[in-house]
Amino acid sequence: MYVARKIAELRKLLCDEKKKGKSIGFVPTMGYLHEGHLELVRHSKKDNDITVVSIFVNPIQFGPNEDLRSYPRDEASDLKKLEASGVDYAFLPTVDEMYPEELLTFVQVDRLSEPMCGAFRPGHFRGVATVVAKLFNIVQPDRAYFGMKDYQQLKVIEKMVKDLNFPVQIVAVQTVREANGLAMSSRNSYLSEEERKQASSIYRALLKGKELYEAGVRDAEAIKNAVYDELSKVPTIKVQYVELRDAETLEDIKRVEKPAVLALAVFLGKARLIDNIIIG
Ligand code: AMP
Repeated sequence: MYVARKIAELRKLLCDEKKKGKSIGFVPTMGYLHEGHLELVRHSKKDNDITVVSIFVNPIQFGPNEDLRSYPRDEASDLKKLEASGVDYAFLPTVDEMYPEELLTFVQVDRLSEPMCGAFRPGHFRGVATVVAKLFNIVQPDRAYFGMKDYQQLKVIEKMVKDLNFPVQIVAVQTVREANGLAMSSRNSYLSEEERKQASSIYRALLKGKELYEAGVRDAEAIKNAVYDELSKVPTIKVQYVELRDAETLEDIKRVEKPAVLALAVFLGKARLIDNIIIG
């Protein structure tokens, strides 16, 4: 595995691969890698000749009171995992390499960025879309892999690629979970053992919502209330939002008539956790 830290260096190497006719799969991450990330890598390796993984904790997607500074990092362990997974190129730029001067250009995906996490994290999806656009221009992948765990992010990136004609295919990958249902996340490292157990109620709550739908309930309020009820059984969990929205447009819905995303964000201990499930 080649570890590149400079944009020009990676560009040159990938340009040579492209000249040889190799297809390129790309997995952007913020590191502190877990099985969720490695599942994206496995998909990329299956579909492409070459797999590139970036590790970059992107400052412009964090709010002023968020966890940029404390975000978990372990470069040595990450590189071992990527090497063992058969990744071809790891790209680990510094903040200066990615943002050498004041950035005046941003990618803003209207509407899809506004509800759910966007309502509580102003500027977050603008930061995500901007860094992903930069990374796409640097790597120029044929395919790029994103987890369904970050569902709103996936929809924002899909729309950016469509609207701005990026020549890349976005591949969505199912959420990888712990045995107790907790969606894997780098931020789970903020949880104590006890909190990890409590966090199993997050997915249980989403499943309760989905079960109601499967039992014939279509009323959005009833489905969301079932999720709140299940979450309220764990007093340490503080709900930020529970939403049921159209799975494509992310518009609020009153009834589930088409595929919908049941999504939530909660606080537990020091962690803010998100998860979702598709229903209908
Ligand atoms: P992050 O490092 O958290 O920014 O995540 C990098 C990529 O991995 C994003 O596309 C995430 O959606 C994806 N990802 C994170 N956690 C999971 C998971 N548990 N299952 C599947 N994909 C995930």
